[in-house]
Amino acid sequence: MGTGPSRRTFLLSLAGAAAVTGFDPATQAWATSATPDHAHGIDFAKLPKLDGELLLPATDLTPYADDYGHIVHRQPAAVLLPGSVQDIARLIRFAGPLGISVAPRGQGHQTYGQAQVSGGVVIDLGPLDVVSVNAVRRTATAQAGALWHSVLTASVAHGLTPPVFPDYIELSIGGTLSAGGIGGASSHFGAQVDNVAALQVVTGTGEIVDCSPTRRPEVFQAALAGLGQFGVITSATVNLVPAPDMVRQYTLAYPTLPALTAAQRKVVRDGRFNWLEGALSPATPSGWTYALEGAVYYKSGNPPNDAAVLAGLGFTGAPTTQDFAYVDFVNQLAAAVAFLKSTGEWFDPHPWINLILPNGATDRYMQRVLAGLTAADIGASGVVLLYPVPNRLLTRPFLRTPDSDLVFLFALLRTASPDTDAIPVPQALAGNRKLYDDAVAVGATQYPIGSIPNLTRADWARQYGSSFARFSALKRVLDPFSIMTPGQGIFRQ
Ligand SMILES: Cc1cc2nc3c(=O)[nH]c(=O)nc-3n(C[C@H](O)[C@H](O)[C@H](O)COP(=O)(O)OP(=O)(O)OC[C@H]3O[C@@H](n4cnc5c(N)ncnc54)[C@H](O)[C@@H]3O)c2cc1C
Repeated sequence: MGTGPSRRTFLLSLAGAAAVTGFDPATQAWATSATPDHAHGIDFAKLPKLDGELLLPATDLTPYADDYGHIVHRQPAAVLLPGSVQDIARLIRFAGPLGISVAPRGQGHQTYGQAQVSGGVVIDLGPLDVVSVNAVRRTATAQAGALWHSVLTASVAHGLTPPVFPDYIELSIGGTLSAGGIGGASSHFGAQVDNVAALQVVTGTGEIVDCSPTRRPEVFQAALAGLGQFGVITSATVNLVPAPDMVRQYTLAYPTLPALTAAQRKVVRDGRFNWLEGALSPATPSGWTYALEGAVYYKSGNPPNDAAVLAGLGFTGAPTTQDFAYVDFVNQLAAAVAFLKSTGEWFDPHPWINLILPNGATDRYMQRVLAGLTAADIGASGVVLLYPVPNRLLTRPFLRTPDSDLVFLFALLRTASPDTDAIPVPQALAGNRKLYDDAVAVGATQYPIGSIPNLTRADWARQYGSSFARFSALKRVLDPFSIMTPGQGIFRQ
């Protein structure tokens, strides 16, 4: 799946040399303005008229050969800025019979080329960003290019909120629903995909399908956490719950990993925190610090009783508490992101890995992992998260989790800043592969948003387990030309 420097240089220099004008199914190559049209049978002039825009100049395409990982670079031949859902259907119907690959893209925040396509067409969902709220039904319907931040803003205006957010809310609806969407509130509500009432999807055949658990359920189930394999999510109707007014966040220190996870198991069982995560940081001069991060929602003027909230949790030192208005709590990463953008670290490589560990193996696996990790492995602005989610709340078949009542999300969010002591990207990628193999050996799955090199069909078959046959069968039906989202590397073309 990775693209080495020589191939990357080749693609970028090809793109810089001439604008792409068409695709030649015979040679499986794109024609450029430097190649005579008659040598290449098909070009985009054959596309039906679009409501939006098709970008062809190389300079317009270059940003789409990158993502938040800044590791993989694949130059598309064109980018569709859809003016309508019909544009997406038109493009897919055009591309399918020609075998032209198509990759939907939200914010491009997966880290290993998952939303990129070499010589194909990227559909930038950005222009489709309308959000509306039905306060009576307690739902929000968002076009796939909308950001979770916009859904939050629109919903709280009605005193409502989606029950679960990722830690960062400038991500697209389509991008997170294609992955899963796990956050601190997943301990009560599962993933974001578990809180979707209906979708509109343009399948890999170009059919526009309105679907739900009861209407075309096979498309609904396929698209949620479907990694873009079956089509393009164009809009989602998500369930809303009453929005809290205020949030008190507690940070509790633990001396060891087992002490942290024991406390997390206790609170995830008794549900005392509305939101639950955990963070691990390298300590100076050695070892790790372990923090439970829990939050309690409350009404303004009626804060929680700290002693009752913290009873029996056996942490060390004094707890840290911080109060937020709800929207500021959900958006609390904003300040850190602004800072990282100001230092440039936001734009450095992010060879991330996210794993979902079975409860029974979590402590042993994590202790082994932490013994081998240093600050340089994570990078100065990197983050390590570990928190539990009850597996019964993770109901969507393609969000794959281990066979365990409780699972732990382990997120190693590395920043490989080249101008610091951080380990170089190839070393981080090799490390990710080893972490992945070791995790699989203890029954884990990956949360597929990161950078794990050289994933094979056997790896994906293991990831999907008994669902792989269904995953593959749905692929054949909903994406018969196998054009959708090759950057995930599941079905190699
Ligand atoms: C700072 C940061 C914090 C994060 N925190 C969390 C977190 O707390 N919890 C969590 O679960 N995740 C988290 N993520 C990961 C994030 O949820 C995923 O990477 C998500 O897929 C990114 O959304 P995006 O809009 O950037 O998608 P993209 O990267 O653009 O796309 C992701 C994949 O989905 C496909 N895709 C995109 N749009 C569609 C669509 N409309 N229909 C079908 N397929 C589509 C793409 O082709 C690609 O394969 C975080 C990421 C970042 C950068």
